[in-house]
Amino acid sequence: MRIGAHVDSADPLAEASARAADAVQFFLSDPKGWKAPQPRDDADRLRAAEVDVYVHAPYVINVATPNNRIRIPSRKLLVAHAAAAAEIGARGLIVHGGHVNAGDDLTVGFDNWRKTFAYAAESGGFATPVLIENTAGGENACARRLDALARLWDVVGEYGAGFCLDTCHAHAGGEELLDLVDRVKAITGRIDLVHANNSRDGFGSGADRHDNLDSGTIDPELLLAVIRGAGAPVIVETPGGATGQAADITFLRGQTGIGDRLA
Ligand SMILES: [Zn+2]
Repeated sequence: MRIGAHVDSADPLAEASARAADAVQFFLSDPKGWKAPQPRDDADRLRAAEVDVYVHAPYVINVATPNNRIRIPSRKLLVAHAAAAAEIGARGLIVHGGHVNAGDDLTVGFDNWRKTFAYAAESGGFATPVLIENTAGGENACARRLDALARLWDVVGEYGAGFCLDTCHAHAGGEELLDLVDRVKAITGRIDLVHANNSRDGFGSGADRHDNLDSGTIDPELLLAVIRGAGAPVIVETPGGATGQAADITFLRGQTGIGDRLA
């Protein structure tokens, strides 16, 4: 099973070495900004690397919102990130499920997701597989609870959307980790990537604060069960820099059914 970490974007391959990681995830632009991603000097090295590369889209992207002034630039930025991610050989572009505003009908949010894939399809589709990630908070989210995820998949499934399961977000979002993989796969048919994170906050808190795997409010055995069941590559987005993340990766590699399994 490929195991890696979310790292600083300046030199991801050096960050991978520092953690003995098989995979890295990073941002291609300021995650809180709207700037388009720029070509990278290390594109050839990243494409040729043994390390698997994933790109996380900026947090500002919300393709679901009824607000035109957010939705339209979100779509464009997502397409631009998919193109830039392809330039560096990325295996997936992770983007949060997004939300509508209080009082808005979630149906509009799902339809906006459909339109996003339809918009990308007009220019040949996303250049990198888009993996929609479950989120922790908000009452109007498209991919927090599984009932919403099922409605989302009714519209994006046919476009080949991928799914990224974040364990912290599921727990804080109010979805039990026990049997979660089976319940998710019954909806999406797939889990393409696991964001393995413990949570500093309690079940259903709606807060999004990651913790190291053997810390936090989630029983580590439940995290391991999700990772084993998903059978997908794993990225830790945990604190503590290279030291903290390397310890989390070592912890995972030491587990039966994870470290001894190639995927
Ligand atoms: Zn995540």
